[in-house]
Parts: sequence; structure tokens; C-alpha cells
Amino acid sequence: MPKDYVNQNICPICSRKVEESDYLNELFSEEPEVNYIAHLVTHYRHNHIESWNRCWGRHGSRYRRNWFGDYDEEKAKVNERAKRQIIRKGKVILNQVGILPEHFARLQNTEPKTMEVARKYLTGVKVQDTLSGSTTVEFDSAQELTDKAA
Ligand SMILES: [Zn+2]
Repeated sequence: MPKDYVNQNICPICSRKVEESDYLNELFSEEPEVNYIAHLVTHYRHNHIESWNRCWGRHGSRYRRNWFGDYDEEKAKVNERAKRQIIRKGKVILNQVGILPEHFARLQNTEPKTMEVARKYLTGVKVQDTLSGSTTVEFDSAQELTDKAA
């Protein structure tokens, strides 16, 4: 069931369970969709962005020296990049579970550029209605292969 992605906090890109944050769960307790994508942004930053991970590894201070701004500024920038990549790479599942541009607008500091991407890909169209179950699965794995090759 696509809704399980939201209920169980599963990443639409790597299909792994996202580590839950009590802080976010409380902050967005009334908005499961917003809570879900807020968790995804943190997960994406830590698991899918290599340059961010390098900044916290053994030679982290060397990488962090290249930052222009401070931690919060840099984190906000990386978060915006993460949001856009989550939308592009996870759009099939995000559409299935009913994530809309409005949900991204509820997150902190969402830039107009990110909203543009959200409006382009999150159309609210139920992909499942037009594709058979097996086609959806094929589409997913094909997308994953493209991501790995990129
Ligand atoms: Zn993931």
C-alpha cells in the first residue's frame, strides 16, 4: 500500500525506513504528510548527499572550511537541494501518497525555486489509476537504475 510509505516513514528513493525524530513528530503531529517530507529531508541529507556526509567525516573540518556561510545557512541550502531531489527522484510515490506542493510550502525556508519544482512534479494525479500494478513496479525499478547510473 502506498500509504504505508507515510505511516511507516519509508524513503521513496531507497525504500529504507527513515529514522524518526521526536522533534518533527511533535512539530507536525497534525500533518502526517508534512511530517513525512520533513523526515525525508533529514534522511536525504544524511544518506543521499555525499558532500554533506564528507563534512562530518574524519576530514570534516577541511570540507567545512569551503563553506561560505555558517552551519545554519549551509544546512538551509542543502535542505533546499534535498527537497528538489526528493521531488524529482521520488515523484511517483509522492504522488501516490498524496504529497502536494502545499505540503512543501509548510516546511521551513522553502524557496520559490523549490516550489516551482514541486508544482511541476506533484500534480496530485493518482499514477495508480492509469498504470496497472505491475507497470508501476517496473517503472519504479527503471527509475532506480537511472538514479544509480547517474
Ligand atoms: Zn533514502
